[in-house]
Amino acid sequence: MLSGWREVTARRPWRISAKLLIISSVVTVIGFSAICVNVMLDMRRGEEALARQTLENLATTIESDISRNIEIYDLSLKAVASNMLLPEIATVPKAIRHLILFDHATTARHFGAIQVFDADGRLTIDASTLDPLPANRSEEDYFKIHRHNPGADLFISRPMLFRGAYSIVLSRRISDTDGGFLGVVAGSIRFSYFHELFERLNLDPDDTITVLKRDRTIMMRRPFDLDVIGTNLAERQAWKADNLKIGTSYSGQGPVDPTPRLYARSGDSGPLFVVAGKPLSAVFELWRKEAIRIGAVVLLLALFLLGSAIVLAREIGRRAEAESKLEEMATTDALTGLKNRRKFDSVIDSEWRRAMRAKTPVALLMIDADHFKAFNDTFGHQAGDQVLVGIAICISDSVSRAGDCAARYGGEEFAVLLPNISVADAYKVAETIRGKVQGWSDDQTISTVSCGIASLVPTVGMDWTVLVAAADKALYAAKAGGRNQSVVASLPKLSLVA
Ligand code: GH3
Ligand code: MG
Ligand code: MG
Repeated sequence: MLSGWREVTARRPWRISAKLLIISSVVTVIGFSAICVNVMLDMRRGEEALARQTLENLATTIESDISRNIEIYDLSLKAVASNMLLPEIATVPKAIRHLILFDHATTARHFGAIQVFDADGRLTIDASTLDPLPANRSEEDYFKIHRHNPGADLFISRPMLFRGAYSIVLSRRISDTDGGFLGVVAGSIRFSYFHELFERLNLDPDDTITVLKRDRTIMMRRPFDLDVIGTNLAERQAWKADNLKIGTSYSGQGPVDPTPRLYARSGDSGPLFVVAGKPLSAVFELWRKEAIRIGAVVLLLALFLLGSAIVLAREIGRRAEAESKLEEMATTDALTGLKNRRKFDSVIDSEWRRAMRAKTPVALLMIDADHFKAFNDTFGHQAGDQVLVGIAICISDSVSRAGDCAARYGGEEFAVLLPNISVADAYKVAETIRGKVQGWSDDQTISTVSCGIASLVPTVGMDWTVLVAAADKALYAAKAGGRNQSVVASLPKLSLVA
C-alpha cells in the first residue's frame, strides 16, 4: 500500500463543536437539575415549617385547655382547703357544710367529686354524698406527699383508677395556721375529659397527642394505650429530653412507637405539657407527589435535551466527515492518490513564502516517465495507468518528511516539493525515486523516470515559478542526456544552494 498518502487527520474544529455541544448540554442539565433540587428542598423545608407550626399551635391549644381546667379545679380544692379551717365547719349540719365547701365546678362532667381526708388518711367528707363509706388513703402518693412536705403545692398524681374510672388525681394539703398537717383535699379529672378533648380535634389516625407531667410521666396519649400511660420517658434510654426542647421540633422515631413523625411541643407554663406528632409520610405527602411530578418532567426534559445533543453532535460529525472527504477528494489525484496539481500549487505557494521569511532553501523535483507514449501504445492505456500508480508509490515511499509534498503534476509528470533541504539531499531523493522505479519495473516491463532538480533560497520579489521553470529545464536536460537519470539545474544568477 502507499504510505504517507493521506495526511494524518488533524483535530478538526467540528470535533470541538460537537464536544462543546455535548458538554454545554450536560452542564445545562446539571444546572437545571441543581436548581430543581434546590427548589424542591426549599419546598420540603417549607412544608416541614408549616407542619411544625401547626403541631406547635395544636399542642399549645390543648395545653391551654388542660391548664385552664386544672386551674379551675384547683381553685375549688384551694377553697375547700381554706374553708376547712373555719371553726364553724365542724359544727354546722352536713348539708350546710357541703354548700360552704363545694362550688359548682366540682359537679362538672369530667371532674370527680372532691374528697377530704383527715391527717390519718381517713375519708371524712365527700362532695358526692353526705354519708361517705369509710375509706383510708394514707398510703396513696397524693396523700403521702402532703403529709411529708408542708410546702407541697398542688399535686398531680400518676394516672390511676380512682373511684372506678381512670383519672389523674389532684390534691392539696390542708394546713392549720401554724402549718400543721390537718389532712388532704383531693379531686380527679377523668380520662373521659381527654378523650372528649381529642375527639373534638380533626386528627388523622396516626397523629399523636401526648400529655406529660413536667417529670415526663405520660399522663395521657392518643392513640390510647394503657401500657404507655403512667410510664416515664426519663426511663427510656433512647429518648433524651433535649430531643424536643420548647420552640423546637423533632423529626424521626419517637419514644413510644417506631413510626417516624414530626413532633412539636407546647410551652411548660402549666403543670402539664403536650407533644403533638404527625407521621413524616403525611407531612411530606403532597410534597412527595409534587416532587415526583416535577422530577419526572425535569428528567424527561433532560433526556430529551441530551438525546437531541447526541443526535446533533452525530450529525455534525457526519457532515464534517463528509466535508473532510470532499476536501480530500478535491486535493487528491484520483488515480495515484498523490496530491493533485491544485493542491501542489497552494502548497508550493505557502512553502515558498515561509522559506522566504526563514531564508531557507526549497527544493523541487520534476519527475517524468520516459517514453510513456510508446509504453501506452504498446501495452495499452490501462497498463500505463498501473505504471503511473507504481511510480507514485515509489515517490511517496521515498518522501517521508512532514513538510514534503508529492503531487501528480499532470499526465505522466510528477512534482516533489522538499522544503529546507540541500540540493545534494534533494538529488539523493531523486536518485532514490529513480532507482526504485527502475527496480520495481525490472521484473515487469521496463519503465524509467527522468528527474530535474532545482533548489533555491527565495528572495523578496522572486516568484516560485522560477523554481518550477528551473526544475523543468533540468528535466529536459535529463531527457536530452539520455533519460533515466537525475539532473540538477544550474542557476548561476540565482542563489543556488550547494
Ligand atoms: P518522453 O520520454 O520524452 O517523456 O516521452 P513520452 O512519450 O513519455 O512523452 P510524451 O509527452 O510524448 O507523451 C506523454 C504520454 O503520456 C502521452 C500520453 O499517452 C501519456 N499519458 C499522459 N497521461 C496519461 C494517463 O493518465 N494515463 C496513461 N496511461 N497515459 C498517459
Ligand atoms: Mg514522458
Ligand atoms: Mg511528459
